[in-house]
Amino acid sequence: MTLKVLLSPPDVGETEEQYVLQALRSGWVAPAGPDLDAFEAEIASRVGVRHAVGLSSGTAALHLALVSWGVGDGDVVIVPTMTFAATANAVCYVGARPHFVDCDPATGNISPELLESALDELAGSGARVRVVIAVDLFGHCADYARIEAVAASRGLKLLCDSAESFGARGAGRPAGSHGDAAVLSFNGNKVMTTSGGGMLLTDDGHLAAHVRKLSTQSREPVPHYEHVEIGYNYRLSNLLAALGRGQLSRLDDMIERRRQWRGAYRDLFADTPGVRLLAPEDDADDNCWLTAVVVNPCAAPWAAEDLGASMARHGVESRRVWKPMHAQPVFAGLSSTLDGSADRIFDYGVVLPSGSKMTDDDFALVSAAVEAVGCR
Ligand SMILES: *Cc1c(COP(=O)(O)O)cnc(C)c1O
Repeated sequence: MTLKVLLSPPDVGETEEQYVLQALRSGWVAPAGPDLDAFEAEIASRVGVRHAVGLSSGTAALHLALVSWGVGDGDVVIVPTMTFAATANAVCYVGARPHFVDCDPATGNISPELLESALDELAGSGARVRVVIAVDLFGHCADYARIEAVAASRGLKLLCDSAESFGARGAGRPAGSHGDAAVLSFNGNKVMTTSGGGMLLTDDGHLAAHVRKLSTQSREPVPHYEHVEIGYNYRLSNLLAALGRGQLSRLDDMIERRRQWRGAYRDLFADTPGVRLLAPEDDADDNCWLTAVVVNPCAAPWAAEDLGASMARHGVESRRVWKPMHAQPVFAGLSSTLDGSADRIFDYGVVLPSGSKMTDDDFALVSAAVEAVGCR
């Protein structure tokens, strides 16, 4: 059956058309131009950081932060096991080794306690840990009050993978303002999109300037082509930045819509024993990017697979939660600090349609699929 309701499709319309058309007509059809400059300034101001660098993807932003910090061969980087592969891939691009850490079962975000035990254990083994990466899973900020303190007390850089959490808040501050640097993604499925794109956010002027240079083939500031270090072609296009500006002008409305679905799911599952949302009690600080439920196999009337199957029969897209990195074949053999939380979320979690473009009729179909779980 073709899918009638998607998980998180792009939500673009006339506003974005106007922005892109204007950029196209301006002649700035290049990875440079006034929309790119304005997009960076608008995001930096919204998040409250000094510098923003527009890049071709969130993955590129993770990669260049690590390159700029000189992380490489023989270094260890802490990576939450519950994340999308991009987080761990970037660590491998620079030749460093991810060490995976398990999550808080309530939110799926890295557990500060396990982070501390992992760092103790790694210090004992003589490993050279350089960076902690935290991920804001599904739009809920990691516990930065504690994680920033842990990283600072051990002299480690903190890189915040806020690819999923733009517009959220944590520890009283906007997502993207935590740690030494943070990364946003504007991939097509995120809370706002440039079709593909990302950004590095930081207060560190040296890091921002270096990442900007690295992203444009590391050209030296001289008239001819002069290069003293390896560069990358990772800059964001001016046209896509224009699309991003259109999206940014609608971001609060789009987040509000996702928040409304989060509330609707709370109501929908309120009377089903053994089914909980993978979210904190209060959604006020979340951007509600994706809503997922965790189905306790001992307490719920049906299993996670049954929910997924009913969704599929109704033409509604649903997905498993990220498969933890420590269980991925490509990362087999890497070290980790685990307590089974991420495995349980993977085994029993289902991600539900959460997009800002979802209509009331779409949600009625999702509800019908939930009502019909277990029926054939
Ligand atoms: C989407 C995502 C990324 C990667 O962003 P891209 O822009 O697709 O490269 C990185 N980390 C997390 C947690 C993500 O969800």
